[in-house]
Amino acid sequence: MNMERLKKEYMNISNRLFIFDTTLRDGEQTPGVALTVDEKMQIARKLNNLGVHKIEVGFPAASKGELLACRKIKSMDLDTTVVGLARSLKQDIDAVLDSDLDYVHTFLGTSPLHRDYKLKMSKEEIIDTAVGGVEYAKDHGLTVEFSAEDGTRTEYDFLYEVFNSVVDAGVDFIDLPDTVGILTPITTYALVNDIKTNFETPLSVHFHNDFGLATANTIVAIERGANQAHVTVNGLGERTGNCSLEELVVTLKAAYGIDLGLDTTRLYSLSNLVGRLTGVKMPVNKPIVGDNAFAHESGIHVHGILNNASTYEPISPESVGHSRRIILGKHTGANSVKAKLKKYHLDLDDVQFNNVFSQIKSLGDSGKCVTDDDLIALAITELSSARETPIVLKGLGLSLGSNVSPTATVKLEISGVEKEAASTGVGPVDASINAIQSLISDTLDINLEEYNLEAITGGTDALAEVFVVTSDPEGNKSTGRSTNQDIVMASILAVLDSINKLLIIQSTNN
Ligand code: MN
Repeated sequence: MNMERLKKEYMNISNRLFIFDTTLRDGEQTPGVALTVDEKMQIARKLNNLGVHKIEVGFPAASKGELLACRKIKSMDLDTTVVGLARSLKQDIDAVLDSDLDYVHTFLGTSPLHRDYKLKMSKEEIIDTAVGGVEYAKDHGLTVEFSAEDGTRTEYDFLYEVFNSVVDAGVDFIDLPDTVGILTPITTYALVNDIKTNFETPLSVHFHNDFGLATANTIVAIERGANQAHVTVNGLGERTGNCSLEELVVTLKAAYGIDLGLDTTRLYSLSNLVGRLTGVKMPVNKPIVGDNAFAHESGIHVHGILNNASTYEPISPESVGHSRRIILGKHTGANSVKAKLKKYHLDLDDVQFNNVFSQIKSLGDSGKCVTDDDLIALAITELSSARETPIVLKGLGLSLGSNVSPTATVKLEISGVEKEAASTGVGPVDASINAIQSLISDTLDINLEEYNLEAITGGTDALAEVFVVTSDPEGNKSTGRSTNQDIVMASILAVLDSINKLLIIQSTNN
């Protein structure tokens, strides 16, 4: 038995498969998430560019904003089919018509729990209402998908009765929602197989992730012939969410070579946009789009990756628009550190390298990860201990008062020569940094990219920590850090620290 034979024996994949994204409807029902019309439009455009076949963009009967969002997204004239949600009621379907949409997703609870406790309707009333909704929508020219809400907890004979009735009423898609996520791969297999045996109408599945199985179950449903999968970006949705768009699409492509015509290189940026607009950040270990999806730390793994990335990656990060990261820590091998130093053009001799390498290991043992910035700082400290510091602070004078500009006089020793300059600024820190810039302008063109000030302790004599990032026109960057009781002094020393490192980077590059 090999993989190809396994696939043949167990799979029965429909040759026409639709991705129905409901990020803007079910995804927006994620607790704590609400999107503006404008944000919905941004996400809709990205989903369209990715190439998903259908997008459910809202519930027009729910609010004026929802109706407006549906109407505006429809007016964007996207290639993707735009879908609106409706209860199986005339007024809800009217709201969908009002939004100018031509595809409605109607739903009605069918399980005993929904019939008895939520809807207080008999089985006959359920069938009449479901059929009434489908007929009304079909009469108004809509494409109709009907969901038997809580279908997986509905008596199967009644579920089939409901499906048969809506099929007779002309429904275009029957949808099986696993509303509270109770299916497992085997029960999905059995149920979908049976529905596909009994119904010719295209079958859609809408699976929730309460037990972490939404994607697995959706894959099984597709393997047994389901024609459409409801998904959301980042697996968002009510409670623990729905089947994740990126996981499903990538699995189908990687495991079965099923190409749905989607541009998967857009997945990572779509995930980031949705994360930013919804405020729901992905855990680092989220498949496909998490920070660690293509991150490697262990020495053995990194050694393999550097020779051939496929040794420890199932797909390339580029194929989903992500990137590979090599993390340094206690599992790091010398190869990864050398590769990184090379990337940053930092040329260390063996002694310097061993010093940096052992510091990374001991930082790792003390529970810390070493970022690229940390590595650069460690390497530069090694390099600079072997050289003279090019620029040294020799003196500082400040003149402050009300109604006059603060003035700073700074004296520096640059390559052994003392120079002094005075500058004004909006405050003493600004004045001092302006003075430094005017003194070094012959040697170096620098740009202060970032300035962060933090008080480490309380009180007016608190220690101030300043962290800066400077850059030069060639794009070299370096960080500087200093701690002092005086804010101005901490700022000047941090800037000089950063400039000195920048000079070292420049001299190693040349
Ligand atoms: Mn749902």
